[in-house]
Amino acid sequence: MRMYDIIKAKRDGGFLATEEINHFIEGYTAGDIPDYQASALLMAIYFKGMNSRETADLTMAMANSGERADLSSIEGIKVDKHSTGGVGDKTTLVIAPIVAACGVKVAKMSGRGLGHTGGTVDKLESIPGMQTSIERDEFIEIVNRTGLCLIGQSGNFAPADKKLYALRDVTATIESIPLIASSIMSKKIAAGSDRILLDVKMGSGSFMKTYDDAKTLAKTMVSIGESVGRRTVALITNMDVPLGYAIGNSLEVVEAVNTLKGIGPEDLTEICIILAANMLYIADKGTMDECKSLAKQALYSGAALECLKKMVTAQGGDASYITDTNKFSTARYYRTVTARKDGYIVKMDTESCGIASVMLGAGRATKEDTIDYAAGIMLENKIGAKVERGETLATMYAEREDVFDAAIEEFLGAIEIGDEPPEETKILLGRVEN
Ligand code: URA
Repeated sequence: MRMYDIIKAKRDGGFLATEEINHFIEGYTAGDIPDYQASALLMAIYFKGMNSRETADLTMAMANSGERADLSSIEGIKVDKHSTGGVGDKTTLVIAPIVAACGVKVAKMSGRGLGHTGGTVDKLESIPGMQTSIERDEFIEIVNRTGLCLIGQSGNFAPADKKLYALRDVTATIESIPLIASSIMSKKIAAGSDRILLDVKMGSGSFMKTYDDAKTLAKTMVSIGESVGRRTVALITNMDVPLGYAIGNSLEVVEAVNTLKGIGPEDLTEICIILAANMLYIADKGTMDECKSLAKQALYSGAALECLKKMVTAQGGDASYITDTNKFSTARYYRTVTARKDGYIVKMDTESCGIASVMLGAGRATKEDTIDYAAGIMLENKIGAKVERGETLATMYAEREDVFDAAIEEFLGAIEIGDEPPEETKILLGRVEN
């Protein structure tokens, strides 16, 4: 089998055989296929697409390229959740404890921030002492004891995806539905949970800018999950506006904890109840209405907050920061950002809000960068708000004074103020189930 023929077949719009896809993934993972041939094939896939059989084959080849987690020693059904990435998306910190408090196990590997989007692992590490790199046996023991454990990607899971993702990042081949679907699902399948809930973000802060693309991605991932025996449901949710009011690591932990205390922002609370109810639903905890009630009860009784504290303690973190979030240190400098004219906020380019937060030190511009956990943005007003010239739109936090000017320009460039109020939008835009 020659890589040249595989590239040519896809370039000309053909379908790749299972053996050809396996040859590519095995050869590329082993270092036998050079980057230039892999890049050419990725670009051919970007332009010509893949059918559902090819996408499922690519997913399984990547899932099988390294370790596969064995979670069989965790009692009961294990449910995983994956967000395609957003700004201010701290839902995992709220949902995982809710689901665990309802008796469903969450043994989850999360990611770090990527580009303008934040990552759960970075947020967790803003809690003093918190360990996100935990050996397998201890990970399983913590899940069995507390109902949940959230760790970073460790071990050798889907190494083919790791290499291909880095290559896609520099060859303009990220935005391809079969490549995104196989990248996400290969990691989810290798991570071992029985049931998978996907949160496909749509809008200016996400990879998917249109509803049709988000729906196609959601359907592709659901059908891959189902084809390998993992019950999978996808929700399509709004990322045309940051979720909640906090963007940045410890700021987001505080907002997530407030949500678990019943005093969080309305949009965040609503989406967390919906996501948690769907996780409970696919874990066979009842009808959707029953699952919604269970989720609300776990949230408003304080049971979910207790679960989070137990998890933080089990992972070496100082749970007194959860009890009293005033203990989180605040950034050394802050600046308020004000409206330049009167009117309604009609648009917030959410990607630019995320980029502004990265500029303040809340994310990484390169892999080697360190994160300032207290850096970020607290929004005061979001889409739909009526503001007057000079009124505060947001407060920015940073450890260095020299980062503010560029971040403020980026943020203000993201905000559009108009004369008429915008149409109201929903947070849940769609749901895909087989
Ligand atoms: N997240 C992933 O893990 N992979 C992609 O390709 C895009 C988003």
